[in-house]
Amino acid sequence: MAVSVFPWHTSTWRDLLERKSNLPHALLFIGREGIGKIDFVRKLAQSLACETPASDGAACGACQSCRWFASSSHPDYREILPEAMRGEEQDTADGSMDAESTTSKRKPSQEIRIEDVRSLQDFIFLTSHQRGGKTIVFYPAEAMNTNAANALLKNLEEPPAGTRFMLVSHRPSELPATIHSRCQKVVLHTPTADDAAKWLREQGVAEPAISLAQTGNAPLLALKLSDDTFWSQRKDFLNGLSARDLIMLSLAEKLRDIPPVRLLGWLQRWTYDLLSVRSGGPARFNPDYQTVIAETAHGLRPIDLSRYHRELLRQQRTIHHPLNPRLYIEQLLLTYAAVTRGQRVRAGKPY
Ligand SMILES: [Zn+2]
Repeated sequence: MAVSVFPWHTSTWRDLLERKSNLPHALLFIGREGIGKIDFVRKLAQSLACETPASDGAACGACQSCRWFASSSHPDYREILPEAMRGEEQDTADGSMDAESTTSKRKPSQEIRIEDVRSLQDFIFLTSHQRGGKTIVFYPAEAMNTNAANALLKNLEEPPAGTRFMLVSHRPSELPATIHSRCQKVVLHTPTADDAAKWLREQGVAEPAISLAQTGNAPLLALKLSDDTFWSQRKDFLNGLSARDLIMLSLAEKLRDIPPVRLLGWLQRWTYDLLSVRSGGPARFNPDYQTVIAETAHGLRPIDLSRYHRELLRQQRTIHHPLNPRLYIEQLLLTYAAVTRGQRVRAGKPY
């Protein structure tokens, strides 16, 4: 059966398939994280390589080329991911990754590095196995460090024959302008809340509204949330914050098994909702706690709250693995308590 994409990407899909014989050698796919961009790009590459595509151009799903795609072993297709992501994407990333994997104990890199781009040179100059040409995907493209981006730029400036580059980015503003200028952009849209909820119900998620609110309507992220301890932990945390006799150190003790990055995300969204409700808006991320948020927001000074929220955003960008997670969580909660009591805070710490 011919492959198909997520329903919210159908019109972009048709548009690209219609002009598939004329696609430029470099495409940049942009859109929010968790909406299915990499799935779209894999299926597009598969359709370009398919030996017997359907009448609309979509891959047949049955020919030799499609079978290679199904087993992640197409000889004309490469995906370049940061080392740290290769494990989680192993089912779908191609086999060439194995040769580069390392047995040392050092932390896997979060970046796409120049070695990763250089490792492509042989692949680029080989003749493709099939007439569809070769495709190289960079995902996420913003993970390229400066050296890697410069090395790729050389390929984009002098495009090798028969090779197509597909860059996939959640945060295109982090890519150099020189990369932007050499790629044709394809915007992959976030579905409407209704379309996303419909799809999640089809996947067996009973109450999709809250997961979608948590993820800004990104259905694949929302789906990921539905199958781990996320919800019970979130409930412990938000009920803890909502308690009238808020004792931060005992709450920190209760939450000690939750990854700090997750807690920080919740606290940031909670604070966003407090700010939003304080200025007459809705609780966007936590609609199920609207009443408590309204009660809490009532007595808060918007300026303190907004400063605290900015600080949480800053920490979200910089903190991945705090040295002492326990201490970090205690500090986060104590600062929140100080803000809600009307005390001034500086650099994320109460005075
Ligand atoms: Zn096929």
